[in-house]
Amino acid sequence: MLTIASILGACNTSTNKENASSTEIKEAEDGQVSTHVMTKEQQDKLTPDLVLQQLKDGNTRFNSQKITTRNHSEQVRKAAVVQFPKAVVLSCLDSRVTVEDVFDQGMGDVFVGRVAGNFVNEDLLGSLEFASKVAGAKLILIMGHQHCGAIKGAIDDVKLGNITAMLANIKPAVTMSQDFKGEKTSKNDEFVKYVSENNVRYAMKQIRERSPIIKEMEDKGQVKIVGVFYRVTDGTIEFLN
Ligand SMILES: [Zn+2]
Repeated sequence: MLTIASILGACNTSTNKENASSTEIKEAEDGQVSTHVMTKEQQDKLTPDLVLQQLKDGNTRFNSQKITTRNHSEQVRKAAVVQFPKAVVLSCLDSRVTVEDVFDQGMGDVFVGRVAGNFVNEDLLGSLEFASKVAGAKLILIMGHQHCGAIKGAIDDVKLGNITAMLANIKPAVTMSQDFKGEKTSKNDEFVKYVSENNVRYAMKQIRERSPIIKEMEDKGQVKIVGVFYRVTDGTIEFLN
């Protein structure tokens, strides 16, 4: 039988000196290459709000050409046997939405679940429960994005192979968006954005309704569920209500 310890791996003996109680982990001095990998001690010190702030700071670095330079070969070795990620991000399949880059996060920092249209189903709910309840991630970020092909496909009621069944997961967001004032087609970027945002809200609602584990963690303040909309045209993120 698998135990939590066996899933996560052996104890991490890393001697990172970063202070996780600040809003931002200083991975490396300016101009230096980071070999930072999250430790259990750092993960334990983080709160959902601190993790959220770190991801916001990372997006600011991403948008100001200050993305962290990382030594991936060294990080591979340091992270090989264990992981203590701070967050889990559910994103779309889209090739333009490079989650780790968007938040300037390195190896071992974040779990990333990807499916066209960033919806949740049983498999993804299980993945989110593993990331938070078992592996200790403090933040669940659901990220929709601008110009999403899956959202447009759901709006257009595309029928094609297995895509038909996949798009059925996004249809509730299209239904939720019928109060939109204006042209309700995939050619209207504002409507596509509105459906995409409602799709994120629907995923957040589904998590709370279908995952008693995560709902309890949220009620206890152990985890935060946050929805964002990523703009592929300028690399910025908008937080949803
Ligand atoms: Zn997409």
